[in-house]
Amino acid sequence: MEKHFSAYRKIRKETDVISKKLSKVHSSHLQCKKGCDLCCMDYSILPVEFYSILEDLKSRGFKAENLQRIAKNDEDCIFLKNHDCTIYESRPLICRTHGQPLLYTNDDGEWELSTCELNFKDYDFENFSEENTFPQDKFNSKLFLINREFIAEFKEETHLGEFELLPLKKLGEKL
Ligand code: SF4
Repeated sequence: MEKHFSAYRKIRKETDVISKKLSKVHSSHLQCKKGCDLCCMDYSILPVEFYSILEDLKSRGFKAENLQRIAKNDEDCIFLKNHDCTIYESRPLICRTHGQPLLYTNDDGEWELSTCELNFKDYDFENFSEENTFPQDKFNSKLFLINREFIAEFKEETHLGEFELLPLKKLGEKL
């Protein structure tokens, strides 16, 4: 599995680099700060990311006791505790782009831009460009390809298909 996990970690690093760059570019328009959990929810992720995070958490000694026991509803992320992410170093890609302007193609094949409702309140959306937005499609494609290779090799062990998604809360059952 290590080959696939290392490919995943490479994308994770690239995501962090772009996200950091965008945070600097848009610093005056971002309200993101420690303690804000508006973007946090029980995201569903691809198996290669799921198992890579699981390995990360186990190697860091993360225990099920660390989990948020009382979720307000089914949508809550089990890793959120007192408004803080308890797996910050291992959090999935989607969480690494929280707050950034995300550029992607929607189901109708049209470009769409997504931002947090707290950010870019006084920003002219005409000023968004390929250079100052996060290229969501590019990263989704890379991740999908890594996941496809992972599933092709471990289909029998995981019993999962390449289009299947796993909710973060399932990680809690495996810790
Ligand atoms: S993993 Fe962390 S950052 Fe991502 S939704 Fe859960 S608490 Fe929030």
